[in-house]
Amino acid sequence: MSVQARVPIDAASIQVPRGQVYTIPNRCKGCNFCIQFCPKEVLEFSEAINNKGYHFPVVRKGMEEQCIHCRFCDLICPELAIFTREVEPATAVGASA
Ligand code: SF4
Ligand code: SF4
Repeated sequence: MSVQARVPIDAASIQVPRGQVYTIPNRCKGCNFCIQFCPKEVLEFSEAINNKGYHFPVVRKGMEEQCIHCRFCDLICPELAIFTREVEPATAVGASA
């Protein structure tokens, strides 16, 4: 059985937003929510630990331009420790603290 995907008639004009990820490492409690639920699998835990002793999220190597600014990490974080800002695709450069 073949399945044909429908393509929106304006597909060529749709621009996917790009986001830049910002974290506030010392607020993070290492719950993993942002990493687990990012739809683009952009995030991973840092090797470093914050002043509470937790690893905090960073952008995975090679994924610096993959954040789509869906803001889910921002909305789900119980500590308000991560957020994103929309940037032009050409200027999306990934994480910063
Ligand atoms: S804004 Fe969305 S795509 Fe970007 S890091 Fe957060 S959850 Fe992932
Ligand atoms: S959701 Fe917030 S507290 Fe949990 S790991 Fe991500 S930044 Fe840290």
